[in-house]
Amino acid sequence: MKTFEEDLKEAALYHGHICAGQILGVRMARLGVRKLALEEPQKYRDLVVFVESDRCLSDAVSTVTGCKLGKRRLKHKDYGKSAASFLDLRTSRAVRVSSIGWVNAPANVNLLEYFAALTDEELFKVEEVEIPFPPCEAPGKPVEKIECGLCGEMITDSRHIIKDGKALCKSCAGFSYYKLKTGE
Ligand SMILES: [Zn+2]
Ligand SMILES: [Zn+2]
Repeated sequence: MKTFEEDLKEAALYHGHICAGQILGVRMARLGVRKLALEEPQKYRDLVVFVESDRCLSDAVSTVTGCKLGKRRLKHKDYGKSAASFLDLRTSRAVRVSSIGWVNAPANVNLLEYFAALTDEELFKVEEVEIPFPPCEAPGKPVEKIECGLCGEMITDSRHIIKDGKALCKSCAGFSYYKLKTGE
């Protein structure tokens, strides 16, 4: 296993700076993989990580574990929480690690120093969890490809929605994050 300092250096390099989120994320990830008894997480292909934040700490969790979005081994759950779950696909064992230290931190404190002084037990809550993991979530080739019945774009891995008997992409089914600009 790498040292905390080695992990932190890699995380800061990828993220762009050292911040409280890097300290927290590195420690969170190290604790998570230790609970799953994974010695070298970056070399272990059956680890999947669910991050509940899209802020600093998620970058650190990604570098420490080697789990990347494009490999389908980093799943972003938009919960706005300082937490991550670590799933071992080989054993189906999973642990969720969430930060309790953040909530209790006094105002105007230097978070970097404050977090460094806390033990893992003071900083985190660890829970054994079950995470359903259907084949359409797995790394590897897409298990399914479907053409959207309206826009004709390809949808992989069961992300389509059946509406009035038609398979539609989320955008065409009315759950789009964007609006098409119409010509003036
Ligand atoms: Zn940061
Ligand atoms: Zn569509």
